[in-house]
Amino acid sequence: MKITIRNLSKVYKNNNRALNNVNLEIGSGMFGLLGPNGAGKTTLMRILVTLMKPTSGQVLVDNYDLVKHRHQIRSMLGYLPQDFSLFSKLKTWEFLDYVASLAGLQKTQQRKKAVDEMLEHVGLYDVRDRQANKLSGGMKRRLGIAQALIGDPKIVIVDEPTTGLDPEERIRFRNFLADISQRDVIIILSTHIVGDISSTCADMALLNKGEVIFNDSPDKLVDEARGHVFQIEAIDAELDSIKERYPVISTIPAENGWEVQIVADELKDFKGKEIEPNLEHAYVYRMEYGVDAHEFSLTD
Ligand code: ADP
Repeated sequence: MKITIRNLSKVYKNNNRALNNVNLEIGSGMFGLLGPNGAGKTTLMRILVTLMKPTSGQVLVDNYDLVKHRHQIRSMLGYLPQDFSLFSKLKTWEFLDYVASLAGLQKTQQRKKAVDEMLEHVGLYDVRDRQANKLSGGMKRRLGIAQALIGDPKIVIVDEPTTGLDPEERIRFRNFLADISQRDVIIILSTHIVGDISSTCADMALLNKGEVIFNDSPDKLVDEARGHVFQIEAIDAELDSIKERYPVISTIPAENGWEVQIVADELKDFKGKEIEPNLEHAYVYRMEYGVDAHEFSLTD
C-alpha cells in the first residue's frame, strides 16, 4: 500500500498558507513527520484523515482519491488526534466496544474478542472495568492508540503521540508503535520531538513553514550534518558570543567552564573538536542552514 501526496497546498480563510506544494510518497511501515510548531503537520494530518479538504493538489491511497473516495478511505483509517481526551464515563472496555461497533464490527462475539485482544495488547486488560476518564495520562494515551487501531485499519495516523507522557511511557509507546508497524500497515507519526522519530522510523520528512525541506531516512539526515557539529570548551566570558554566532544544541558544565555543542557550516574564531552528529544535531543543522545555505557557503 502507498500514499501519494501531489502538489498539496492548504490556504486558510485568513490567507494563512499552512501547506505549500507538498509532495510525498509514504509506503508501509513507520513514517515520521517532523517539524516545529506551526510547520503545518496538524493541517496535513487533518487532510489525510479527511477532516479537511486541501485548497489544491491531490492525495491518493493506492488508486483511491482522498476527496472523491472519502468513505472507502475512512474505512481504512485509524486516527489518534493530538487533543484526544476522554470525558467518557464509560468503562474502558465499553468505550472500546463502542468504537469497535463504529468501526464496523457488528457481531457481539467478534467485537468482544477484538476488544479483549486490544486491551491485552495495550496493557489495559487489568483496568478494563475502570471508567475511561479515570485512567492515568499514559493509560489514556494507550486507550487512544487502542481506539485508533481497533478494526484493523490499514493506515494509522498519530499526531504528537508522546505529549504529556513521562519518559518510561514514551519508550513503551514508541516500542508499541514499532511493533505494530511490522504488519502491512502505514503508520504516520507527526511530532515536534526529534526523539520520537530516531529509533523507529525508516523514512521521514521534515516540514517547515508548510514546505517539505527533507524527505529520506533519518540516517541520511544525520549524514548531512557530519562535519558540521562541534564541541567547544568555553569559559564563562565566551558563552554569549558563541550563542550569538552559532545555534547551540547543549551547554554542559565542565571542569574549567563549559562544553558547548554547536552546529556550523564551518567553525571559525573558536577552537573545538568535531563530534559525531545525532538526529537532534542533524535536525537543527538542517533547519538553520539547509541545503541551499550550505551550497551557497561552499561557493562563497
Ligand atoms: P503544526 O501542527 O505543525 O504546529 P498547524 O498545521 O497547526 O502546524 O499550523 C500551520 C499554520 O497554519 C500555522 O501558521 C497556524 O497558525 C495556521 N493555522 C492552523 N489552523 C488554522 C486555522 N484554522 N485558521 C487559520 N490558520 C490556521
